[in-house]
Parts: sequence; structure tokens; C-alpha cells
Amino acid sequence: MPDCIFCKIVKGEIPSNKLYEDEQVLAFLDIGPLSEGHSLVIPKDHFERFDQCPPDTLAKVIAAANKLAKAVAAATECDGYNVLCNTGRAAGQAVDHVHFHIIPRNQGDGLFDGWPAG
Ligand code: IMP
Repeated sequence: MPDCIFCKIVKGEIPSNKLYEDEQVLAFLDIGPLSEGHSLVIPKDHFERFDQCPPDTLAKVIAAANKLAKAVAAATECDGYNVLCNTGRAAGQAVDHVHFHIIPRNQGDGLFDGWPAG
């Protein structure tokens, strides 16, 4: 998708801080981190929304997110983390290429005050 910023990252047309890469999946640091280690995991192929991403691709993305979350949690020594996939403008999706956020959390950081609980 020519105008998609994450497709451009996949193609190396714009730089990113890559954390993980395989044939189908790429992970990199979020350019506007909500906390240290805030990372994004995406399929290399372009799918706009979570519900448009085929389950086998999704399984690969989640498997990578699972590994990366452990590594990010260990590296940042966070107390916990959120794994989020915003879908649709109403839910906060700004980039129309399906992605999972891994957001390290620390007790009392107030990042999502009010939601989710904590
Ligand atoms: P969304 O609101 O769930 O769509 O999240 C999009 C995320 O992509 C935001 O957290 C942005 O900071 C992040 N982002 C946008 N452009 C770039 C980039 O060029 N590199 C890394 N992260 C980006």
C-alpha cells in the first residue's frame, strides 16, 4: 500500500528501530512511546484492520508479540505491560495497517488512568 507508513517501514523506505523480523512479521519501537520500550508488532503484508487480517497471519504476529513481550519486559524491568490492537478511529487507530502495541507499565504510572483498571 503506497501511502501506508508501516508498509514504508517494511520496505525500508523510512527508518525504524527494528526489534524483530521474520518472513511475515516485523517489530519496531514506537516513534511516540507511551513508556520506555513501547513497541509495535505488525504483519509485513498490508491489512487495514484486525478483523481483515487472516488468522494464520495473525497467529504469526501474536507468536512474535509473545516472544517480544518477554524480551521487552525483561529489558525494561517493567511491572507489567499492555498488548493492544486499536481498531477503527473510534478506538484510537491512527495507522491503517494492523498493529499490536506492547506497552510496558509500572505500578502507579497512570498511563491509562480510568481504563483499564490500575
Ligand atoms: P494507533 O493509534 O493504534 O494506530 O497507533 C499508531 C502508532 O504508530 C502510534 O503509537 C504512533 O506513535 C506510531 N507510529 C506512527 N508512525 C510511526 C513511525 O514512523 N515509526 C514508529 N512508530 C510510528
